[in-house]
Amino acid sequence: MALQMFGIPVSRGVAVGRAVLLSSARLDVAHYFVDPGQEEAEIDRLRAARAAVRSELQTLQAELPADAPAEMAAFIDVHKMLLDDPHIGRDTAGWIRRRRYNAEWALTAQLDVIARSFDEMDDAYLRERKADVEQVVERLLRALRGTQGLPGVARGDDDLVLVAHDISPADMMQFKQGVFRGFITDIGGKTSHTAIVARSLDIPAVVGAREASRLIRQDDWVIIDGDNGLLIVDPSPAIVDDYRVRKQESELARQRLQRLRNTPARTLDGQSIELLANIELPEDCEAALQAGATGIGLFRTEFLFMNRNGRLPGENEQFEAYRRVVQAMGGRPVTIRTIDIGADKPLDGDGDHRDGEFTHLNPALGLRAIRYSLSDPAMFRVQLRALLRAACFGPLRILVPMLAHARELHQTIEQLDLARAELRAAGVEPGKVELGAMIEVPGAVLMLPLFLRHFDFISVGTNDLVQYTLAIDRADESVAELYDPLHPAVLQLLAQTIAQAHAAHGIRGRPVHVSVCGEMAGDPQLTRLLLGLGLRSFSMHPAQLLSVKHEILRSDCSRLAPLAQAVLGEFEPEEQRRALAALDA
Ligand code: PEP
Ligand code: MG
Repeated sequence: MALQMFGIPVSRGVAVGRAVLLSSARLDVAHYFVDPGQEEAEIDRLRAARAAVRSELQTLQAELPADAPAEMAAFIDVHKMLLDDPHIGRDTAGWIRRRRYNAEWALTAQLDVIARSFDEMDDAYLRERKADVEQVVERLLRALRGTQGLPGVARGDDDLVLVAHDISPADMMQFKQGVFRGFITDIGGKTSHTAIVARSLDIPAVVGAREASRLIRQDDWVIIDGDNGLLIVDPSPAIVDDYRVRKQESELARQRLQRLRNTPARTLDGQSIELLANIELPEDCEAALQAGATGIGLFRTEFLFMNRNGRLPGENEQFEAYRRVVQAMGGRPVTIRTIDIGADKPLDGDGDHRDGEFTHLNPALGLRAIRYSLSDPAMFRVQLRALLRAACFGPLRILVPMLAHARELHQTIEQLDLARAELRAAGVEPGKVELGAMIEVPGAVLMLPLFLRHFDFISVGTNDLVQYTLAIDRADESVAELYDPLHPAVLQLLAQTIAQAHAAHGIRGRPVHVSVCGEMAGDPQLTRLLLGLGLRSFSMHPAQLLSVKHEILRSDCSRLAPLAQAVLGEFEPEEQRRALAALDA
């Protein structure tokens, strides 16, 4: 009987594949398929690694000091025994032969199988031996690092879906070019950064599925219904067939949308709408252009800074990355956000190069985004100088995340001036940039009169605006139901921001350009409401762009404006629902 589970749908579509269970600690090993015919060579790599670890353990034992406790030698014996255990050697080789997994991947897959059988043991002593197996696998993984494998170009025989308790945004990035056709995690919310990256991959994903990584076993067949947040484990052939048909239908629908790629985003009443792309890496520009984006509305640069063991990218490396984006976009506007490190985006897994910074209780309220940058002005100016240099190659706007205080605003402008002066002192003429603020904190909305006097443009980060307005951690699935972008308080703040920006006489004596770059902008179900609220610039992941354009082409802003105002006047859920439905009528 198939097992069904529900989670939070974060990326649409259907995936049918075999489960690959990975503990978050082991997500950083390489995952690729060895080419057909190369299985035995890969098993030789595994054999060589086992031989290396065996001799490592023998040396360790031989060099034990005479006064070492007797248990030390016994532990090493246990590890030697485990190394020769067929569950590690033979069964790992089985993954390579059957599935053509590379050796590292095969080892971690097998470790998961072994770990589960230990977890099910009644005997506490035996249960604890799991740690020994983990240590032996760790040694083998280290030994394999010394014998680089050659990633195959082949695909596996079955589609695979990744199941993990949690995946950090940085680990998720590693899967961008990866082998997985879908993702499932136990924890996470709809706008957690892991979910956002999953959405950018445009493959079905369900987060917050609570028990999934415990209940799904390695190699189980799983259906991910990314539209409804449904997971079906071990489905009957009839259900699989049904979902395969749905999958084909949704792929066909996507192909049909492709026809809109070069159609100007214009409403029925002739309003031109700007559709920009959100990206995480310079390589994403290709997808942005493919989707017909007319510029980049948000480049989340923090992804360049992650998983580098504290060695942050220097000015030249950053400059090259920013220049690549500007040049790839060929004269279209490029908005690059200064780093938004912190909250659910630590630099290195759980830790960080500055001791204990993200271990405090409320990281989302802690040292993140502009606060983080201003806490280390020298580091901040490295980024600003790189941006100013890249601006010589095309239109570049700098976007500053999470501002709330006038002091932060003035310090940011001061640092930008200083960065310009530093470049000039070094004989480099900085390029011209526009400076913008993200509106992500309710306090910032109430500070708009000041912000609109100092910034060239503003961009509303609705993901955080919802989180901070409603005091709901966007990454916490236990309160995910309360995370509501349609909450009247959120809509009021959003409407005020758009209206004030339009009415402003900014630094250039004209209205201030306003865009939304949070996930709301990429949700086609909200397009009409946002148009009705006066929004004319949307920034989203390229995968969402054509669905939003499709909505725009069917919309009439002059009709939507009064209907959106009516939505703002409703505070009771039932009445608000009715007012929202009128937008679609
Ligand atoms: C937002 O908060 O809406 C936003 C776009 O920034 P991020 O999701 O990176 O916090
Ligand atoms: Mg944000």
